[in-house]
Amino acid sequence: MQKVSKDKVVYTMSKANEPVLYADSGSQIVFETEDALHGQIKSAETGFEGLDWSRVNPATGPVYINGAEPGDILSIKIEKIDIADSGVVVCGEGMGTLGHILKGPAMKIMPIENGMAKFSDKISLPINKMVGVIGVAPKDGEISCGVPDYHGGNMDCKEIREGATVLLPVNIPGALLAMGDLHAVMADGEIGVSGLEVEGAVTVTVDVVKGKCLPLPMITNDYHVMTLASHEDLDIAVEIATANMMEYLTKEKGLTPHDATMLISLAGDVRICQVVDPKKTARVELPRMLLS
Ligand code: CA
Repeated sequence: MQKVSKDKVVYTMSKANEPVLYADSGSQIVFETEDALHGQIKSAETGFEGLDWSRVNPATGPVYINGAEPGDILSIKIEKIDIADSGVVVCGEGMGTLGHILKGPAMKIMPIENGMAKFSDKISLPINKMVGVIGVAPKDGEISCGVPDYHGGNMDCKEIREGATVLLPVNIPGALLAMGDLHAVMADGEIGVSGLEVEGAVTVTVDVVKGKCLPLPMITNDYHVMTLASHEDLDIAVEIATANMMEYLTKEKGLTPHDATMLISLAGDVRICQVVDPKKTARVELPRMLLS
């Protein structure tokens, strides 16, 4: 199995980034990843003053997928997520949805043991390991790894977990896949601007899908098919995500636009991935059993 070490990171998704590995469609790859703060917080006493913000949101890669051409779809199955035995969560003044109420920063190092993350002596949380940043190079220019968009990126979607398959558009030859920003625990919204940020490793299987047109990005798992969209305005993100689900239902499943709308209204849960990144991300989850 091929592996990319965590010292091979990028801070933008761009076709200008040199590939650190070449991999065939159908192969398994391990991405070792730094945490989103690049390991800069070693104790709860670390303030934000000493942080090098230019090193935030590193993504490991990029990996050139042999044979991937513009117009193809890159399918990334999340086989396994391994995480370190502790993580860090931060919040502070001016950050996230409650930052206008807070004074100064706070951070917490949380030990992780037996599938639980210790928040305090009284509160422990079950882990829900997920990949915050996963993306490919955009067609032109560069997109910061902190920003989600049509290419994937910092979608901070808790459904990008073991067993899920992420579908992204191939925009340039080789796609240039990169990922990082693992969270041991995160709730929909990520309202404080941080999940339980951990370093770790992600094992994926990549496949190039040819001759198929889907409204991307999408995620599938055993239970749901999901469309995602990111926009500065959450209302518009919801509108795009639901329109993408309608497109999927009409083009792939043969429903009329009216039937698609009614089906989404009845069975498609609209959920928030995150509301704290430069673009906010919404998703629509439709049960797969309705479509079989
Ligand atoms: Ca993130």
